[in-house]
Amino acid sequence: MASVAQERPLLMIPGPIEVSPAVQAAFSVPPPGHLAPRVIEAFGRSLGLMRKVWLAAPEAQPFVVPGSGTTAMDMAAWNLVEPGDPVLVVKTGYFSDRMEEMLRRAGARVSSIGSEPGHAPTIEEVASAVDARMPRLLFATHVDTSTGVRVDPEPLARLARERGILSVFDGVCATAGERFEMDAWGADVYFTASQKAIGLPPGLGLLVATPRALEARDRRRAAPPPMALDFAEWLPIMRAYEAGRPAYFATPATNLILALETGLAEILHGGMAARFALHARAAAAMRDAWSSLGLEEVPAREELRANTLSALWYPEGVGADLIPRIAARGVVVAGGLHTAIRERYFRVGHMGYAATVPAMLRRTAESVGEALLEAGHPGKAPSPEIWTRLLA
Ligand code: PMP
Repeated sequence: MASVAQERPLLMIPGPIEVSPAVQAAFSVPPPGHLAPRVIEAFGRSLGLMRKVWLAAPEAQPFVVPGSGTTAMDMAAWNLVEPGDPVLVVKTGYFSDRMEEMLRRAGARVSSIGSEPGHAPTIEEVASAVDARMPRLLFATHVDTSTGVRVDPEPLARLARERGILSVFDGVCATAGERFEMDAWGADVYFTASQKAIGLPPGLGLLVATPRALEARDRRRAAPPPMALDFAEWLPIMRAYEAGRPAYFATPATNLILALETGLAEILHGGMAARFALHARAAAAMRDAWSSLGLEEVPAREELRANTLSALWYPEGVGADLIPRIAARGVVVAGGLHTAIRERYFRVGHMGYAATVPAMLRRTAESVGEALLEAGHPGKAPSPEIWTRLLA
């Protein structure tokens, strides 16, 4: 771990993230073929582990496809809607805007319910929009990476179930870092990408679908989805891998598949409740540090603040040159992304492996503090106790 920090800057953007030594060892091998027994085994076992990380039912179907979060978004859009279907998007930022456009391209009649950056519509507002517009599908971004706003997916998924419509959640900046109980809440699709709290390098889209979501694909009357996104093409492949049999539709990212089993097993070590609590503790420590430094967060209310990243307003007199000042201290953080406020804030990721290493969190917060001081905004140095509490 220490050598990672010394050799290259610490990667504290909201994905890609630092990966654990075990994950790094798992993918750092000469590329195996896609029909190699150990790839088939790792693939099959990873699918089983995904159900556990997603807290999904045994009959839920995991998919692992080459690509990224954007691939998984498109997969959800093209399999679940057909031309003319009404869809409601809960908009909390940049990535729900992207989803809206994808759904539109898949032919859906998209309407949305949104709010200012840093806010999210209430469940009552969403419920009345559902009742007024009668969508076939409800979409929400669990954590919007552009603002650090987290919605509560539970009432949204339950609402969709009550109204007999499908619910789809973008978990790209949340899955395995924020509480999500796919089966208990009745969500239909939850997807992510390998480079976020899953703890791998980029390269895989990961999606779990309920039988209801698979049926929506089967009932499609319109032309089938693009082949590379089609549940129906991938389903026999996933089933074969899980049964330990070789299969081919499109070449999997073999090194990442080896690492996926390792990454998911690390996440499950201690159980999902402990994993979510770990991220909540890491986020609380970062929040304590930000408040000593006099930084304010973009999410407008406490309960909207994600545990996987912080989105922080630049203080008075400080701007985007803060980021190179932080980088000069060996820590990479991200600039703003939401178009309406891009120049006014920056973002720090604290999900996955880094959330398990207090020294990485501490170094990040201290580098931000030093850079702020250099930029003329002296704050109170975060108390060392913040980090020792994490070790307790
Ligand atoms: N949704 C969310 C919430 C994201 O944070 C991202 C990536 N930052 C995406 C979708 C798109 O994922 P990718 O960049 O892996 O295609």
